[in-house]
Amino acid sequence: MSEVRRVAVIGAGAAGIMAGIAAARSGAEVSLLEHTDSIGSKLLMTGNGKCNYTNTDISRDSFHSGTDRDDRIGSIITRFGYAEAEAFFKSIGIIGRERRGCIYPYTDTAESVRTALRLELKRLGVEIVCGCKNIKIIYKDGNRIRVTSDIFSGGRDFDSAIIACGGLAARKTGSDGSGYDLVRALGAATTDVYPALTPIPLTEDLSVIKGIRCEAALTLRDERDRIIESSVGELQPFENGLSGICALDISGNACRRIGAGERVFIETDYYPGCDDDGFYKLIKYRSECFPERNLTELLNGLFPKKLITYLVHPIDTRKEGYIGKLTESVKHHRYEVSPQIIKDMSRAQTTAGGVSLEWIDENCMLRCCDGIYAAGEILDADGVCGGYNLHFAWATGYISGLHAAGRAE
Ligand SMILES: Cc1cc2nc3c(=O)[nH]c(=O)nc-3n(C[C@H](O)[C@H](O)[C@H](O)COP(=O)(O)OP(=O)(O)OC[C@H]3O[C@@H](n4cnc5c(N)ncnc54)[C@H](O)[C@@H]3O)c2cc1C
Repeated sequence: MSEVRRVAVIGAGAAGIMAGIAAARSGAEVSLLEHTDSIGSKLLMTGNGKCNYTNTDISRDSFHSGTDRDDRIGSIITRFGYAEAEAFFKSIGIIGRERRGCIYPYTDTAESVRTALRLELKRLGVEIVCGCKNIKIIYKDGNRIRVTSDIFSGGRDFDSAIIACGGLAARKTGSDGSGYDLVRALGAATTDVYPALTPIPLTEDLSVIKGIRCEAALTLRDERDRIIESSVGELQPFENGLSGICALDISGNACRRIGAGERVFIETDYYPGCDDDGFYKLIKYRSECFPERNLTELLNGLFPKKLITYLVHPIDTRKEGYIGKLTESVKHHRYEVSPQIIKDMSRAQTTAGGVSLEWIDENCMLRCCDGIYAAGEILDADGVCGGYNLHFAWATGYISGLHAAGRAE
């Protein structure tokens, strides 16, 4: 007869809650230890309060990591992909609503997701201990893992522990980086951490186009003009930078490069619907159709008004070749990313960097500590916009929970 395993989950965010549920469903006795006063606080902020909790297209390309040499991310999302996420959420009473692949709860409220998770934890008898400050994990060879905290300083013993403390994004929800200290104290390595899914400040002032929304393609380039990453989607310039989904998606890589001492640039294509030649011909054709119009008027209907002024302003339309110059300005507008980007975590939705994926096995167990796992944002993996970060939290929480409970998938 196998004994009931005791599992401590440290941090009650998406990953920790999922880990607790998966371990308890596998028969373990689970304690969910959270240092703030409530569980799942960050969940309420997700998707503007609507909680985009997964995506129908979960693929490796949607994640970044600096340490994924053994394709840990691929292995995790292969075992817990969209179908598994959908089945799990159905099992707790959450029905999905799809918008362009992004899945939200039918109610469009994050609170209903948190409530469903809470009800499941309750049904499974998971012990929830909030206000658990100054947690320490003492790993003892053999099979004892002792967890101490201000509220049980003598410590409590467990068979396994899952560290799911999040990263550094949205600090006020409780993810203050203390999880990294826990992992490092156990001997595992963490990388430098930076903001990700964050607006990108530039060295150029963009006040004249702030507030507009347009479709754009961004290419992140290094000093030698090599492509680092590209993205397409809605762009929302602000006073001194670029926001919107396509900017957020490449922000983590911009931070990683700047953190490594490099300069990085963004080439913006304000008309991604066709290539340079196609755009040139389009303007030429419009100029023939509307010979009475000036360049600003020719662009009406293609771009927001403020953007037309911004794009046309530097071009002398009396000179030969102005359509070529306009094409260059529209399709290859170049900006430098301000190094300040790595200093501001306040608007980031997730963290780039964290526990090195080289230090975990395929089930998220720390290679240096038998029985101790890491799950969620604390790991060196960050997804693009679209439900990928929550998906990664559920996936790593689920896999670590099952294995911590001693049950393989
Ligand atoms: C504004 C915003 C919008 C977002 N929208 C989306 C979205 O729509 N879709 C999506 O996929 N992702 C979204 N994300 C990202 C997503 O919220 C995170 O990826 C996800 O919450 C990470 O889950 P986690 O459990 O790893 O970490 P967290 O949610 O940060 O949870 C960590 C928990 O651990 C606790 N903790 C920390 N340290 C300790 C400690 N030492 N002891 C005990 N407890 C500790 C914290 O208090 C917290 O409760 C958004 C993020 C933000 C900030």
